[in-house]
Amino acid sequence: MNTMKRLELRALSEQELTGVCTGLELKKFRAGQVFQWVQGKAVQTWEDMKNIPAQERLQLAEGLDFHPLELVREQRSHDGTRKYLFRLQDGDTIECVLMEYERKSARDRRTVCVSTQVGCAVGCAFCATGLGGFRRNLSPGEIVGQVLDITHHLRREDPEFNVTNIVFMGMGEPLLNYDSVIKSITLLNDAKGQNIGMRRMTISTSGVAPKIRQLARDNPQVGLAVSLHAATDEVRDALVPMNRRYPLKELMAACREYSDLTNRRLTFEVALTADTARRSQAEELAGLLKGQLGHVNLIPVNPVAETGMKRPLASELKTFAEVLVRSGLTVTVREERGTDIDAACGQLRRQWESES
Ligand code: SAH
Ligand code: SF4
Repeated sequence: MNTMKRLELRALSEQELTGVCTGLELKKFRAGQVFQWVQGKAVQTWEDMKNIPAQERLQLAEGLDFHPLELVREQRSHDGTRKYLFRLQDGDTIECVLMEYERKSARDRRTVCVSTQVGCAVGCAFCATGLGGFRRNLSPGEIVGQVLDITHHLRREDPEFNVTNIVFMGMGEPLLNYDSVIKSITLLNDAKGQNIGMRRMTISTSGVAPKIRQLARDNPQVGLAVSLHAATDEVRDALVPMNRRYPLKELMAACREYSDLTNRRLTFEVALTADTARRSQAEELAGLLKGQLGHVNLIPVNPVAETGMKRPLASELKTFAEVLVRSGLTVTVREERGTDIDAACGQLRRQWESES
């Protein structure tokens, strides 16, 4: 019996697959063919790899794990957003969301919001994912698998379907699963795979300062969004517990290092609740971000029953944005998508777990 640790097919680069093929004494070009079937065409079975001889498929299957994610539930919003609940090999479930932006002026944008962990250890006050605690990190194959399986399902309706953008904003804290996230980015970027440009991928973090520094040095050219949510340690400690470990001073220093080293503009995410959407908080935020290369994205908090958080009034949101704009910051108010299908991360999974 083969006692070697089995490799995950969806986590392998073409180069790593070449190593596998060489080890099995298969022709080297098989690696490129298999890579294209798996990462580019998003097939879900070995049998679908038509140009690989059956005998060779069997040899490869012996040493490689190939498990598509099992689709448990799909919800469709009237605005085109679709939310997927997938079951992993070990029975755990994760969510991801497909947002389709149909724009006349721009090319169509089809963004997938992927999960990076099962649950999350950070435990932010308004987040459905944090409520359930942390279970485990996702592997690179499971992260890439979300994009591949959504692509697979959508191509049944539209053979031309392609994902164009990725946001690491689903369940989990991506920078606490750094290596797997970076590996999945490399795979998704591969021209023979999904060919998604580095600049079309964005990592969102609750503020793991040392990993922001590492990302700045590794500089994979992906976008970085920082979930700031508050501009004082007092308020942020209560909303984003990561702040107790890496307070604002340390976080902002890491952000500055990031923009200095990469010359890239960060996005600061600010989810506003009825409590935090105050003029005084907006002024604090304007002060904190002075001189920082960045853009602010205001998000009215998506109410999750157990968190007790309430949305701010539209007028409060408007005043908040105005204070920031007047201080020279660029601000967008996030378009609401999928609110009719519980699109806040972690909500679908919680609902499903309470039913089953
Ligand atoms: N863990 C990472 C990425 C996943 S969360 C992070 O925290 O950045 C993605 C974004 O959704 C974060 O900005 C997070 O704060 C926000 N978010 C989570 N729950 C929310 C809710 N109920 N309403 C609005 N935004 C929420
Ligand atoms: Fe984790 Fe992000 Fe949710 Fe906070 S907002 S609990 S970091 S997933």
